[in-house]
Amino acid sequence: MTLIYQSTRDENNKVTASQAILQGLANDGGLFTPLAMPDMALDFEALTHASYQEVAKLVLSAFLDDFTSEELDYCIANAYDAKFDTEDIAPLVKLNKHYNLELFHGSTIAFKDMALSILPYLLTTSAKKQGVDNKIVILTATSGDTGKAAMAGFADVPGTEIIVFYPKNGVSKIQELQMTTQKGQNTHVVAIDGNFDDAQTDVKRMFNDADLRARLLEQKIQFSSANSMNIGRLVPQIVYYVYAYAQLLKTGDITNGQAINVTVPTGNFGNILAAYYAREIGVPIAKLICASNENKVLTDFFQTRTYDKKRDFKVTSSPSMDILVSSNLERLIFHLVGNDAAKTKELMAALVSKGEYQLDQVDQSILDLFEAGYASEADTEAEIKKVFQENNYIEDPHTAVASSVYRAYREHSNDDTPTVIASTASPYKFPRVAVKAVTGEDSGDDFAAVDELHQLSGVVIPAAVRDLQMAPVRHTTVVPTAGMQEAVEAYLGV
Ligand SMILES: *Cc1c(COP(=O)(O)O)cnc(C)c1O
Repeated sequence: MTLIYQSTRDENNKVTASQAILQGLANDGGLFTPLAMPDMALDFEALTHASYQEVAKLVLSAFLDDFTSEELDYCIANAYDAKFDTEDIAPLVKLNKHYNLELFHGSTIAFKDMALSILPYLLTTSAKKQGVDNKIVILTATSGDTGKAAMAGFADVPGTEIIVFYPKNGVSKIQELQMTTQKGQNTHVVAIDGNFDDAQTDVKRMFNDADLRARLLEQKIQFSSANSMNIGRLVPQIVYYVYAYAQLLKTGDITNGQAINVTVPTGNFGNILAAYYAREIGVPIAKLICASNENKVLTDFFQTRTYDKKRDFKVTSSPSMDILVSSNLERLIFHLVGNDAAKTKELMAALVSKGEYQLDQVDQSILDLFEAGYASEADTEAEIKKVFQENNYIEDPHTAVASSVYRAYREHSNDDTPTVIASTASPYKFPRVAVKAVTGEDSGDDFAAVDELHQLSGVVIPAAVRDLQMAPVRHTTVVPTAGMQEAVEAYLGV
């Protein structure tokens, strides 16, 4: 039986997994979403002996069921290899109050690598399967981490081109350098005078621009998306929740079937949605705790059922979560309203026209799985220090947002269910914030902070950061938000 992916905005727009991956975003503006969960009957005892790659094979073959076994083996082998600095791929670290699932051991030291190291292979395999020989152009808006991880994945992959837009003043120095020094003939990086939402909104608009699409097709070019709206991003993220549960069982920290909670530092809602799907296929997860920074639109949504984007955008120390329009929430909304595409479309239209929408009738059993909270900048800094004092371990600001929200949740709920926090970035990606939180002193410079962080934590400096200082800057283009399409047309010659 083939799993059906349907657009969240049109019940007649149904595709298979490989078609969904190739298109990225549905032409109607919706997101391809599985209508039902595959029946997996996960055997966790057996999985305690499985490698990350084996767990990936199990999950991917269930969700991407129009791929052959050989195709998936090829994709998995090329993705989860020595690019990762540990054979565990996603190690689980036990701290005094929670477990950190370290998702930052890939080439760009943030969790986006977990999915973006496999997406280029899933995408080029999907194109082959669909008999498409157009050049595939990946158009991506990034709040800092996606862009670099996508370029690392797609650089010099034949038949592809990648264009990344990032907010000029919205990313850390290390993040910016990671992008502007990117190698590869087919990579393009553009800074915009705007914030992440401006970039993401215009990327979505270009995807839906029929005229632009037609002009590209004449040149045998088509867009695809590396954003977490692509199901090829989402599905590989389910893997590590299955893997983490098996690891907890293996170490005897839980018994088989015992429930765990998962806390996720959330921006575009992709990572936490993957945790929800992991629960749906049988991982015993009790609570999904959605952690936000001061851009707490999701906290308010879960508390009031009203999604209201009309608020000031805040630049925080956890920039990858500085988001007011959380794309993947649309998939949860779709499920909350009973997989009703017409209703979802209406709500999303209200978000554009009125800046908000309100849910009236929802599936309460789904909503009840979620807890939500936010951490202020001061909370985040204090949390980094507390975790360091308690464990001699330094969290990055995104992980610390989750850790702080979880600490507050645990204190007010008295829920001491073992809890896994998705640890989404290495502190070396945000060294100044991490060092200042621990010592109270600003290092003044990112690279000085890297050395100080090393002194404090004793953790080896990742190659991704060590090599950055010497790497030549190759991309210097800055455009106003209104100039994004022009930049795309110039790169592609249309
Ligand atoms: C992208 C990102 C997030 C947010 O993940 P979503 O899937 O967008 O919710 C959190 N932390 C880091 C470090 C990220 O790069």
